[in-house]
Amino acid sequence: MQSFDVVVIGGGPGGMTAAMTLNQLGKTVAIVQAEHDSIGGVCLNRGCMPTKSLLKAATAYRYAKQGDKYGLNLSAEKVDLQRLRTIVDTDLDALRGMIAGMMGQAQVEVFYGFGSFQSAHEVMISQADGSSQVIRGEQIVISTGSETVELPFAPFDGQHILSSDQMLQNTEIPEKLLIIGGGAIGCEFATLYHTFGSEVTVVEALPTLLPREDQEAGRALQQAFEAQNITVKTGVKVEQIKVEGGKVRVKFDGIDTAEVVDMVLIGVGRRPIIDNLNLDAAGVVIERGAVKVNSAMQTNVPHIYAVGDVSGGVMLAHAAEVAGQMLAKNMVEGTSVSLADGAIPRVAFSHPEVAGIGASKESDGIRSFTMSVVPNGRSVVDKVAPAFVKLFVEEESSVVAGGIIVGEAATEMIHELALAVENRLTLEQVGKTVHAHPTHSANVATAVHMFR
Ligand SMILES: Cc1cc2nc3c(=O)[nH]c(=O)nc-3n(C[C@H](O)[C@H](O)[C@H](O)COP(=O)(O)OP(=O)(O)OC[C@H]3O[C@@H](n4cnc5c(N)ncnc54)[C@H](O)[C@@H]3O)c2cc1C
Repeated sequence: MQSFDVVVIGGGPGGMTAAMTLNQLGKTVAIVQAEHDSIGGVCLNRGCMPTKSLLKAATAYRYAKQGDKYGLNLSAEKVDLQRLRTIVDTDLDALRGMIAGMMGQAQVEVFYGFGSFQSAHEVMISQADGSSQVIRGEQIVISTGSETVELPFAPFDGQHILSSDQMLQNTEIPEKLLIIGGGAIGCEFATLYHTFGSEVTVVEALPTLLPREDQEAGRALQQAFEAQNITVKTGVKVEQIKVEGGKVRVKFDGIDTAEVVDMVLIGVGRRPIIDNLNLDAAGVVIERGAVKVNSAMQTNVPHIYAVGDVSGGVMLAHAAEVAGQMLAKNMVEGTSVSLADGAIPRVAFSHPEVAGIGASKESDGIRSFTMSVVPNGRSVVDKVAPAFVKLFVEEESSVVAGGIIVGEAATEMIHELALAVENRLTLEQVGKTVHAHPTHSANVATAVHMFR
């Protein structure tokens, strides 16, 4: 039996980063990765990267369609999703190549197959043809990520009722698309398909889009969507979905008329992947559907750790990545560090983009200020709506406790506020920083100077 200092189950951003850091710290490491993804996990294969590749194409298409606005005669033919898929695949292949190179340099051994516990130190790797092998780890990391949640009354069929995985394989642009769930994934697909020509409706059960964010920001995104003719229904629950005669009939709670569309995307959330891991054989405890960990990301079994989406919390790739580095140090150096939720930028790559950091609510000792309609030079020449910037500040110290931005390049601009939150910078310190002109980032400086 092959034996390693550490066996990592799941090769997404969390597992991969942990494995490479562990190897740098002198450990022999193996990664077990299920064959339906390559190393890179959901993020590279079915999440962050394919969506961003498609969103880049959507931005280019939007510019082509709106050439007039910029004084250009451009023509934009109908989008060929089949062709776009080949471009996405080229991007993903390049990324897979980069990761394979990094893995090779790091001397991390990759085993393709499905991993499950045979005992607290042994991982069985099973292949689709029924064959299997067992490897041993002195320590083990569980980083099996998460999967899409299905609605009990609307199973995915890949044709009319789709998950985000299936939507990324889709090559049809539906005339009418209804998206259930107004979180980041729902809003990104709304932007994509609206740009590609579908009539899009987003339905969210809670009162605002991006319901975990500040409500004012959610309403700002809703207004921007509605200005583009994306229909948004908030505070509305879907009660029934039926496929009839090639169309999908969607009935809402308390509303008599059903909506008839060509395709439904279910984007109601993701859950940790723990089934079939045979956690009982290792004695690992689960809490609220996720692997339970302490502040060192250690499970109840001291030599077994968990990182990324599988341990619940903020399900974002950069959170898994940074936590993976911290986890490796905890395992080797015996430290007990983990990533505070407040330090993780929260992002939606919709049009407009939304990005938040730190506090997202006023509370005792935290005050907020909203800047919503102050055009800056860059938004005028770029011909985009002025950014919405909301800041949360500690009343006594003037330390920046959080912020949220809705607008062009928000997912880039947020890092200035992240730096401020992480290092407890005051409004005055951020305000003293010279911002280049003309930039979208200057919006942050304007909001800081206007804070009352
Ligand atoms: C459509 C979409 C868009 C997204 N966009 C963004 C974005 O823009 N930015 C962002 O930060 N996050 C984004 N995310 C979230 C991000 O993809 C996840 O938070 C991130 O991938 C989690 O990393 P992870 O390492 O925990 O697990 P994962 O990336 O889920 O990787 C885990 C891997 O383990 C494999 N696995 C599972 N069980 C086993 C087993 N028993 N044996 C072997 N292998 C196994 C899985 O197949 C998977 O490949 C997006 C997600 C989706 C679905």
